[in-house]
Amino acid sequence: MSTSLLSKPFTDGLAQGVLRYQRCERCGAAQRLARYACTACGEPALGWHEAAGTGRVFSLTEVRRAPTDAFKAMVPYTLVLVDLDEGARLMGHGRAGMAIGDRVRASVFTLDGQPLIRFEPVQGG
Ligand SMILES: [Zn+2]
Repeated sequence: MSTSLLSKPFTDGLAQGVLRYQRCERCGAAQRLARYACTACGEPALGWHEAAGTGRVFSLTEVRRAPTDAFKAMVPYTLVLVDLDEGARLMGHGRAGMAIGDRVRASVFTLDGQPLIRFEPVQGG
């Protein structure tokens, strides 16, 4: 099975504006990335669950060179890695001025037909 098939429930969810993550059916551990087996206990039964979309910035980087033409109008832009409250880790677009540890909430936007994640700051985090 390819990586794209592995993460199909995630990309399908994104197209519907829903964030999904994997959780172990045996021990309940959230998987940071799409896996074939639990990273905590090795259990291969991993279920997909909906995430609330809130979390905290783990790291961020500024992108100055567009990976494709569709991104050229956006550069420079900020990409953030966010630890969701459920325990999964997701990459998405952020905002200039964000900092590690900021509370954020995810939304989905479309660029060139591709659904992408954007994290906005949440007040009172
Ligand atoms: Zn497990």
